[in-house]
Amino acid sequence: MENEFDSVFPKSYVMKGGEGPHSYAQNSTGQKSAIEAAKHHLQNAITKKFDLKAISASSENLICIADLGCSMGPNTFIAIQNIVEAIQLKYQSQNQSTPEILVFFNDQASNDFNTLFQNFPPNRNYFAAGIPGSFYGRLFPKQSLHLVHTSAALSWLSELPKELTDRSCGALNKGRIFYTNAPSEAYDAYQRQFKMDWEAFLQARAQELVDNGIMACLMNVINDIDFKVDLYLGKDFELLGSCPMDMAKLGLIQEEKVDTFNVPLCSLISSNLDLMKILETSEDFSIEQSEVMDNNCFVIPNIEYFVSRLRAVLEVLIENHFGVGIVDELFERFTEKVREFPKIMDVPKLKFHLFFVVLKRKVKA
Ligand code: SAH
Repeated sequence: MENEFDSVFPKSYVMKGGEGPHSYAQNSTGQKSAIEAAKHHLQNAITKKFDLKAISASSENLICIADLGCSMGPNTFIAIQNIVEAIQLKYQSQNQSTPEILVFFNDQASNDFNTLFQNFPPNRNYFAAGIPGSFYGRLFPKQSLHLVHTSAALSWLSELPKELTDRSCGALNKGRIFYTNAPSEAYDAYQRQFKMDWEAFLQARAQELVDNGIMACLMNVINDIDFKVDLYLGKDFELLGSCPMDMAKLGLIQEEKVDTFNVPLCSLISSNLDLMKILETSEDFSIEQSEVMDNNCFVIPNIEYFVSRLRAVLEVLIENHFGVGIVDELFERFTEKVREFPKIMDVPKLKFHLFFVVLKRKVKA
């Protein structure tokens, strides 16, 4: 029988740790602006949908919340504060005192939990714990969570589609690191993985949430995209991908390594319509609210930030694949290429939207 704890330690795609110039902590204002854009909807959902009876039915004195894919802060603390505020207001409005709150901060085991723990807000009004492991598998005991939140994390696939890593089939995505401008087999393989991952994610959460428990997910999606027409889309990854190719031609890295390197992000695959289709077929969750928002509120101040923001999310992945020692040169080359095509920094043209969806765990029959 499959061991349900096996899935807890996955392949790692963690963000750059610490608080240095290329760290996630210093380069995630885009993700922060998404949390701010969704704040009103999130708090509204708690006011309207968070069922106090469900809490008292499962445990009278403790509310358990999880932020999945929390990274190392500071954004996770902002999201959690928004949630805790709304819960407190809800209890106050019913003249009840708020139960104690325990927040589980989850990310992959190699996430920089030290930085996370060191930066816990000093005056927080909740207890806190770190939970290492993949949210595509079980992380918590059955029926132990009242509210799950996740932002900017479900764009990461659980792993690369097998077709892209299976050397016996040849490198399906030769010369590229992403699926824009790629053979349709590569694109389709990403899409299948995306769907399988969502199903695994929902299955795990269905077991962990109490009846009527709430799950709020925020992620980038795309709308009405035609890869052949939308010249901006994925250009950053295409330009970035051309840098290791150039380095391979100079003999600085092996070409075979470039051919098998692909970024396990599905942000240009996931449309809100596809996602709604997956969610609508769920037997375990009802869709309580869904919003598609523009993601225009964040501006790229300069080339350095544009590059660092990508470096913060990809550096560890690149080092794990190519070995240490190439990232400085790779990102210097990338910076030069962005200088030649500064238009790719025009974020609104990327046509990203934010998708915010609130699900409720159906009561088990
Ligand atoms: N929620 C934060 C961080 C988003 S960055 C914010 O909004 O700023 C995405 C995070 O998801 C990374 O820290 C990455 O390590 C984590 N992540 C990606 N796949 C994961 C998985 N399968 N399980 C747990 N965490 C994952």
